[in-house]
Amino acid sequence: MVPPRIKCQTCGTIQEASGHIQRMVEAGVAVFCTNCKNGQPHEVVQTEGKKLFRVPCSWQMYGYFECYAEDWDDAIEQANEGSLPDGDYIDDSFEVDTDRIEEMKEEEKSDV
Ligand SMILES: [Zn+2]
Repeated sequence: MVPPRIKCQTCGTIQEASGHIQRMVEAGVAVFCTNCKNGQPHEVVQTEGKKLFRVPCSWQMYGYFECYAEDWDDAIEQANEGSLPDGDYIDDSFEVDTDRIEEMKEEEKSDV
């Protein structure tokens, strides 16, 4: 039997769920996504006859790194060494890494 799966409507992650969790989702009870820790509605997805694909992709964000600095050079240095600030998705920057997919296809062939 294929284990039931639920899809997070926030981050899109598909996770295996126990029958208990699946019944909660069907009843409209919020379950927490282990990926984004979000309690928003999840949907039960049918994966029978399908396999899980991990499509390599990238996107860009734009934001502001805030710091107290003596001058721009100091601020830039802090930004380069600091952790990533919150940001907004740059429109149309989403890209599927087709070169990597070609490599993955070759790797699949040699695995067989
Ligand atoms: Zn999620």
